[in-house]
Amino acid sequence: ELQVNHVITWMEKSNEKIQTNKDFLSALDRAIGDGDHGINMARGFNEVVTKIKETDYSTVSDVLKDVSMTLLSKVGGASGPLYGTAFLKMSTSLKGREKIDYSLFVNAVSEALNGIKMRGKASTGEKTLVDVWEPIVEQLQKDSDFEAVTIETTAKNSMEATKAIEAKKGRAAYLGERSVGHLDPGSVSSYYIFSALSEVIK
Ligand code: ADP
Ligand code: MG
Ligand code: MG
Repeated sequence: ELQVNHVITWMEKSNEKIQTNKDFLSALDRAIGDGDHGINMARGFNEVVTKIKETDYSTVSDVLKDVSMTLLSKVGGASGPLYGTAFLKMSTSLKGREKIDYSLFVNAVSEALNGIKMRGKASTGEKTLVDVWEPIVEQLQKDSDFEAVTIETTAKNSMEATKAIEAKKGRAAYLGERSVGHLDPGSVSSYYIFSALSEVIK
């Protein structure tokens, strides 16, 4: 069962990974974008952690709502609205729920993926964060309970697989074939978020 304190720890651990790898994320974005992904994410998640630590929450949905609103207002770029939408969809999907069991959580992440795809008009194989979120949703649906190892492995493998893809969406798409051979920055930040999740639930 997923509780308020789990989500708070999830965001804290996500933030730690993003802060640690801020320069790496920006360097990846410098190669195929405008070089600000680390800065965008580090600013946003720092604000997220500040906000949720100073607030008292009675539901998981409420925490995720604040995560979403903070990312929407602080991250900017393409990734701000995309991550903001993802966490908003999760929050909405869990609204009014007291106990968040595994299947409710899987539904919430699946709704988040749908939100990302709708917002960014992207599908699998276009070198965007969809290339991590989609395999994660498929894996979560296959499993019958939280499996830390499969979440970590699926996120890592799918993140690494973006290297071989030619970008069709976002700034990297302007490079066409020249985007091949580079990791997608948004997929790497998504990997950190799911890696953090796997640490929280194990
Ligand atoms: P910007 O490109 O506006 O500077 P960021 O650098 O913060 O924004 O984020 C770039 C990341 O956003 C990309 O690596 C990619 O994963 C993701 N992204 C960009 N466009 C889309 C889209 N249309 N759909 C899904 N993800 C996208
Ligand atoms: Mg950028
Ligand atoms: Mg930018």
